[in-house]
Amino acid sequence: LSTWSTVPAGPPDPILGVTEAFKADKDPRKINLGVGAYRDGNGKPYVLSSVKSAEDLIALENPDKEYLPISGLPEFTKAAAKLAYGADSQPLKQSAIAVVQSISGTGALRIGGAFLQRFFPHAKAIYIPTPSWGNHTSIFRDSGLEVKQYRYFDKKTVGLDFEGMKADLQSMPPNSIVLLHACAHNPTGVDPTPEQWVELSSLIAEKSLFPFFDMAYQGFASGSTTRDAFALRHFVKEGHQVALAQSFAKNMGLYGERVGAFSLVAADEEEKKRLESQLKIVIRPMYSNPPLHGARIASTILTNFELYSEWEAEVKGMAERIISMRARLYDNLVSLNTPGEWSHIKSQIGMFSFTGLTTPQTQTLAEKAHIYMTADGRISMAGLNAHNIDYFSESVSKAVK
Ligand code: PLP
Repeated sequence: LSTWSTVPAGPPDPILGVTEAFKADKDPRKINLGVGAYRDGNGKPYVLSSVKSAEDLIALENPDKEYLPISGLPEFTKAAAKLAYGADSQPLKQSAIAVVQSISGTGALRIGGAFLQRFFPHAKAIYIPTPSWGNHTSIFRDSGLEVKQYRYFDKKTVGLDFEGMKADLQSMPPNSIVLLHACAHNPTGVDPTPEQWVELSSLIAEKSLFPFFDMAYQGFASGSTTRDAFALRHFVKEGHQVALAQSFAKNMGLYGERVGAFSLVAADEEEKKRLESQLKIVIRPMYSNPPLHGARIASTILTNFELYSEWEAEVKGMAERIISMRARLYDNLVSLNTPGEWSHIKSQIGMFSFTGLTTPQTQTLAEKAHIYMTADGRISMAGLNAHNIDYFSESVSKAVK
C-alpha cells in the first residue's frame, strides 16, 4: 500500500483550466481571455525594452551570483518603497518604513500574513472583498489567519457596492485587518473613486481597522504610478500604519522573475529596525533569501534616470492599449445593439473586466466561438487586440441575444 493512497486529488486551478481548454482548441479564431499576463497588440507576451536594457547593463558589470541578504537587495527595497509611498512620504523620510524583498506579490502577501499571525496584537482575522483575487483566501488561511469577507461588488450595477462596503466596515470588530486592493481590483476592475477612498480612510481610522494594501498593478491601471498609488499614499498621509504587498510582475512584465516587496509603516526608525529583524525571522525558514536577477533588473530601472523614463512610458503604453480596447469593445457592443448596459467596460480599470456575462454564456462562448474566460465572466483585457476584438464583440453580442 502506498504511503499516499489516502491523498485525494485536489480540484484543478480554475484559471489554469481555462488555458488548458484553450490549448486543446484547434480553431484559428480561438481567444484566451483567462490569463492574467499582458499581451501586446499581436497577442504575444511582451518583454519591456527598459527591462532588456537593464539586463544589458547588468551583464556588462558581470556580477556574481552570491546569496542576497535575507531581506533582499537593499537598493531594490529602497527604490520599491520610494515608488510606492512617494519620495515625499513622511515615514519614508523618517526612515520609518520596514521593507523586505519578496517572491513577487504572492510572497509579499504570504510574509505579511505570517507576520500578522505572529505579531498582530488583536484578533487574527483578515477581511477580504467579495469577490477577491482567488489566491487571497488560500494565502491568508495558510498563514494562520481567519479569513472573512466584506461586500465590494454590486452585481446589479456591475460596479462598487460602496454602501454595502461601508456598512460591513462599520460592523467589523475594531482592530480587524482589512485587505484592500490599492488599484485595479482583481477580478472586477472596479475601484473606489478618490473621494470614496478618502471616505474609506476616515471610516477605517474611526473603527481602528488595520489596512493591508495589495498593490499588484501600480502604473498598470491608469498608466501613472502616482495616480495608482493615490489610495495608499492618502492612507499613509492620514496616519494609518499600513501593511503593503507590492508586485513588479505586471508593471515591469517580470512575472516569472518573482520580484516584489512587503513593507510596514512603523512609528519611527527604532521600531522599523525591530520590525525588520522579525520579518527576517519570518523569511529565513521559508526560503532563506529571495532571488537575485529580477531584483537587479527592477532596481536598475528604478535608480537609472533614463531607464526609469523609458519604463514609465512603457507602463503607460500597456495601460493605454488596454484602455483603448475597453473603448473599442464598448463601442462595438453598443453599435451591435447588444442588450444590456455596457458602460462598466469603460469605467473599469486594469487588466481585468467583469463583463457581467453569466456562466452559461461563458460556456456558450467557449463551445460556439472558441473564446475562453473564467466562469465568473471575467476577461483579461490584455488578451484583446485589433485582430480579434471585432470577432470577440460579435460573439459576445450573439451570446447575450
Ligand atoms: N494580488 C493580486 C490582486 C493579483 O492580481 C496578483 C496577480 O495576479 C497578485 C497579487 C500577485 O501576483 P504575483 O505573485 O505574480 O506578483
